[in-house]
Amino acid sequence: MRIKPIGAAGGEVTGSAYLVETGKARVLVDCGLFQGSKRSEALNRAPVRRDKKLDAVLLTHGHLDHTGRLPLLANLGYRGPVFATPATIEMTGLILRDAARIQVQDLVRINKKRVRKGEEPLPPLYESGDADQILSQLRAVPYQKPVDVADGITAQWVESGHMLGSASIQLLTEGKRVIFSGDLGPKGVPILRDYEPFQEADLVFLESTYGDRDHRSFPETVEEFVRVVKEALQGGGKILVPTFAVGRAQLLMGLLAWMFRTKKCASFPIFLDSPMAIEATMIYSRQREIFDDGMKRFMAEKPLREDLTGLRVTASSEESMAINDFQGTCMVMAGSGMCNAGRILHHLKHNLWKPETRVLLVGYQGRGSIGRQLLEGKPQVTIHGERLQVQAKVHTLGGFSAHAGQSDLLGWLSAVAPSRPRVVLTHGEDGPRQVLAERVAERFGLRAELPGMGDWIET
Ligand code: ZN
Repeated sequence: MRIKPIGAAGGEVTGSAYLVETGKARVLVDCGLFQGSKRSEALNRAPVRRDKKLDAVLLTHGHLDHTGRLPLLANLGYRGPVFATPATIEMTGLILRDAARIQVQDLVRINKKRVRKGEEPLPPLYESGDADQILSQLRAVPYQKPVDVADGITAQWVESGHMLGSASIQLLTEGKRVIFSGDLGPKGVPILRDYEPFQEADLVFLESTYGDRDHRSFPETVEEFVRVVKEALQGGGKILVPTFAVGRAQLLMGLLAWMFRTKKCASFPIFLDSPMAIEATMIYSRQREIFDDGMKRFMAEKPLREDLTGLRVTASSEESMAINDFQGTCMVMAGSGMCNAGRILHHLKHNLWKPETRVLLVGYQGRGSIGRQLLEGKPQVTIHGERLQVQAKVHTLGGFSAHAGQSDLLGWLSAVAPSRPRVVLTHGEDGPRQVLAERVAERFGLRAELPGMGDWIET
C-alpha cells in the first residue's frame, strides 16, 4: 500500500486530499480546495488523472478545504461513491453550492478587469452542474460502524470534534490500520462532542494547524469576548466577525444566547449576514442528536430564539447593504472566514478606517489572506483594489478556533502512541508542523515524518 498527500502537505494547510493505493483499489480521503492566497489557489486542479481509476472518495468533514475540489472529480467523469456522515453530507451540499456561486461572482469581477487590460478571460474552475453531479454521489455512513468502501478496504468514521458531522477515518486494508485524524477540534467547547482517540495503528496522519501553541482556554476566551462586546456597546462601533455561516457562527449564536440568558449583558442587534445562515441553522436543528450533552440541556431549558430576540438574518444583498446605515453598536457576522471573498469585505471597507470598529478574528487565517494581514496588525489593507487605513481594533480570539491546540493534538496522539505507529504530520505551515514533530519525539519517542505534496508514503 502507498499513500500520497496531494494537498495540505509541504507547509500548505488547505487543499486536503490523500490518494490511497492498495493492490486492489484506489481511494481518496478528502478532496479539498486550496484557499487563502493567489499562490495557493493556483494549485487547484483535479487531484487524480482522468486515465486512472478511482474507486471511492471518503470525507472527514464538510469544510471547503476538505471538499472543494470534489466537483473537479465529477468534471473528470468520476461517478463512484463519496462516503460521509449524514451531517457532513448536508454541510458539503451547503458549502459546495455556495462556493460554486461565489466563484462565479468573483470570476465575473476578475474577468471584467482582465478584459479591460486586454487579457483573455479565465474559465471557471468548475460549473455548478459539476457540484450538483458530485453531490448526487454522496453516500451516508454512520459513526463507529465499519463500512466496506472499496475492494479490500474497510473504513470507520469516529468523532473528531471539529465541526458538525466531522470525523477521523480509520482504514483497514492489507492487514494494516491507517488513521487519518482529519481536522481535530479542541476539547470542552460547547455544541460539539469531544474527539474520540484511537488505541492502535500502524500509520497515523495527524493535522498540525496549531502544532506550535495552545489557544487561550475556552472560558478565558469567553471572558474576553464578553469584555470586547461590553466595550463596543459603550463605544458605539460595529463588531465585525468574519465567519462562514456554519460552525463559528452557530457557536457565537449559542454563546450570545447564553450571555443574554444569564444577563452577562443586555441584548443588542446581531446581523447574521449570510444567505446560507437559514439553511445552516436548519441543518443544525435536524442534526441536534449529535450535539454534546450540555448543549442539549441548554436547548431543552428554553429555545435559543427566545434569547436571541435581536438576531436578524439578512438574506438579500439589499438587506446586507442596509446594515451600512445602521447607527449604534451591532454585531455583523459575514463570510468569508478569512476575508478573501464574500460580504465581510464590504463591511470591512465601510468600517475598518473607523477607530470605534472592532474586528473579531475567530478562525484560522490563511497566509496571504486579508484576515491574516489584520491579525498581523498591518496598518493598511487593500480590498477590491482600494487601500484602507486600519483604525479598527482587531481582536484574535484563538480560543474559539475549531482546531485543537498543541496539547489537545498530543492528547489525541497519546492514546495511540503506545502501539508505536508511524506518524506523519500534515495540514500545518512549516513552523507549527516542525514544532509538533519535536514535541512528538520528546513525549512519545516517535520520529514524525513531514512529507511534501506528492511524496509517496510506502508501507
Ligand atoms: Zn476543517
